[in-house]
Amino acid sequence: METQRRREGDGLEYGVRGPDDAVRAAEVASVRHIQDALLRWYRGHRRDLPWRNTRSAYRIFLAEMMLQQTQVERVAQRYREFLARFPTVRHLAAAPVAAVIRLWAGLGYNRRAVHLHRAAQAVVRDHGGRFPKDLAALLDLPGVGPYTARALLSFVDNAPVGVVDTNVRRVVGRILQRDLTAAYGDAGPNPRQFQALADSLAPAAHSARWNQALMDLGSSVCASRRPDCARCPVMEWCQATREDEVADLPALRPKGQGAFTGSRRYYRGRIIAVLRDLPPGEAAPFTTLVERVRQLTDAELPQAWLWELAQALARDGLIEIEGDRDETAAVITLPQ
Ligand code: SF4
Repeated sequence: METQRRREGDGLEYGVRGPDDAVRAAEVASVRHIQDALLRWYRGHRRDLPWRNTRSAYRIFLAEMMLQQTQVERVAQRYREFLARFPTVRHLAAAPVAAVIRLWAGLGYNRRAVHLHRAAQAVVRDHGGRFPKDLAALLDLPGVGPYTARALLSFVDNAPVGVVDTNVRRVVGRILQRDLTAAYGDAGPNPRQFQALADSLAPAAHSARWNQALMDLGSSVCASRRPDCARCPVMEWCQATREDEVADLPALRPKGQGAFTGSRRYYRGRIIAVLRDLPPGEAAPFTTLVERVRQLTDAELPQAWLWELAQALARDGLIEIEGDRDETAAVITLPQ
């Protein structure tokens, strides 16, 4: 389809190349106005987070791995403890994975601890201890997806990429709400199209501040339920506000997390919690583990079901099972 230039008057201006192509920001004044307004706002409103005061790839990587599924407040303290214990990627790679899993307590999603450790080992083994600077090599690291890879590129080197999390999806989706609906229909852009748009919006040389500003705006002003548009630095250009349709596009809404307590993930976490309580290097018979998990959860859990969970944890590298053919004789430990 032929390239069209859309002019929205007081809105964003950009080219739309066809239904399968992403909407991309063009180098026009209105985009720069939004960038300027948001970056100016960020100077006075940025959250002072410990991982924002560094350009160290290791420190940013550590923070981003922790932040993948855990709230900022819970990460801050544990981040400092990790840096005190593992000050460099080489320290982390050389540590027993059990030490990393132990220190991960309270952050949830324990597989990230294993991924963190394996990624550190890959950086040391395959990249001489320096984090790669291209997207494909970063995506090859265990536990690193499009978000974390781009966060490293942007926050370490200001590479012009969009770091798309839930907040960024919501804020950009609202600012461009009418145009995204016009270009992609009610379903909105797919993740690839949205990523391309976010990449094209990130200002060269300032992408770190831009991405962080979008995140902070989403967490403080452009909240999911009641956005405080009167305090918003980009209200002038926001299509959702102009249309009086402040809402999330269907495709931009995060999926529900579901109930945690009582879930499979919950009980996996309780097994790890019991093993963390053992002295370092110590193992527990599986039958003892079953009793402790039952006490901890106050639930009469079937032993066979816990055995299946334990085997899944072993496959994920979170525990080791000695004698895994017979659950009554098996001995469990954190991996050494
Ligand atoms: S004007 Fe309102 S809806 Fe638009 S980006 Fe700002 S806070 Fe969000």
